[in-house]
Amino acid sequence: MSGVFGFFAPDGGGAAETAYFGLYALQHRGQESAGLAVSDGRRIRIRKGMGLVTQVLTDEAVANMPGSISIGHVRYSKAGEPHVANAQPLLGFTQHGQLALAHDGKLTNAPSLRQRLQRDGAVLQTTTDSELILNLIARQTGDPFEEAVVKAIGALRGAFSVVLMTNDKLIGFRDYAGIRPLSIGRHGEATILASESAAFDTIGADRVRDVEPGELVVVDAQGLRTRQLQPAQAAFCVFEYIYFARPDSHLAERNVHLIRKAIGRQLARESRIAADLVIPAPDSGTSAALGYAEESGIPFDFGLMKNRYVGRTFIQPTPALRQKGVRIKLNPVSALLKDQRVIVVDDSIVRGTTSGKTVEMLKDAGAREVHMAIASPPFIHACHYGIDIANTDDLIAAHRTQEEVRKIIGADSLHYLSLSGLYKALQMPGTGLCTACFTGEYPLGVGEPQSTSDLLEDEE
Ligand code: SF4
Repeated sequence: MSGVFGFFAPDGGGAAETAYFGLYALQHRGQESAGLAVSDGRRIRIRKGMGLVTQVLTDEAVANMPGSISIGHVRYSKAGEPHVANAQPLLGFTQHGQLALAHDGKLTNAPSLRQRLQRDGAVLQTTTDSELILNLIARQTGDPFEEAVVKAIGALRGAFSVVLMTNDKLIGFRDYAGIRPLSIGRHGEATILASESAAFDTIGADRVRDVEPGELVVVDAQGLRTRQLQPAQAAFCVFEYIYFARPDSHLAERNVHLIRKAIGRQLARESRIAADLVIPAPDSGTSAALGYAEESGIPFDFGLMKNRYVGRTFIQPTPALRQKGVRIKLNPVSALLKDQRVIVVDDSIVRGTTSGKTVEMLKDAGAREVHMAIASPPFIHACHYGIDIANTDDLIAAHRTQEEVRKIIGADSLHYLSLSGLYKALQMPGTGLCTACFTGEYPLGVGEPQSTSDLLEDEE
């Protein structure tokens, strides 16, 4: 998963600063690397590196990137190795001039595209799918430039929400299933593209609408124009609603926090646990826990406190310190938990390690019973569309019964939301969503369509 951001201001200026704040709002979508590309109309400057937005994009760096068009990216490692070369945006010097590109998603035909490009002499410098997209675009001809982009999109399979810029254009496009989000915003005369609408709020822009699945958006001095390249067959990632997106974002016209509360209410209706207290697993379980408490009438409180200043990397405690119970990220509120029957609401159980530690911590703090209520169905299939869970063996529920999982995590009971309950809470009948990690039904397939190489040959 990554976050992408694009900005075009016809009246000039401020593109770097605006993208900085937009990326800051999207930081939850990736903390491994960050980057920004800005055009002043003649050249594109780029700055990227490993770390958080504030670490990579310093005041000085942002101040030295004048221009009115920008794209930015925050990245969580997926297909590529965690390495600075894989940080985005990617910049290329091409027959179309300088091109910068940032991508969220994962191509299902990346291996054959890579093989084909390399056989044709391409020198690839990263292990990202994004570089394949940039190379494909660079090789196509077209006038205006977006015709080359359209040809390249025809060769892509899988999940992609992309922002792309030249010296005078901002372009965005999404795969025909619209697996990963991308929205259009407006601030005065400026147009913004962003993974989530929280980025618009941060910079004072208004959300206009989502980029439709299969749609291409071009913004330049002539204004904004769009093209539907392929008929949309929407299959939006349901996990964006459950976990990935910020609660204050709007996805497909609906607020994520309110959706998560509805999911929590549905979970309460389905699980009916006798308990004294509902607590969220911080922070991702908070909205669903609120809904659970409202529906069940069981009091809500914060039983686990999170240290908000813990970064992704810190000195790991020694085994001796761990034995002493050193707690870095989470600490239970013993005074609240003592002798209580506690329901912990969490968004999902993936590997199960965190859930096991949470149950242990709550029991050590004096909780009499700990019940886990999970705001999604069992996660049993790998994701092939850009989430870093590519191996089914890593999933605790993949080859175990619910009772086996309960025993491993040590909870007194374990409750999952049903798939039909999830659809009900989302007010969606099951169409328009990717739910493959629960069902194994992959809307874009998982492998290489036979026609990919033929398609490339046709185009060249
Ligand atoms: S498999 Fe799961 S995580 Fe991956 S895109 Fe589909 S719903 Fe989202």
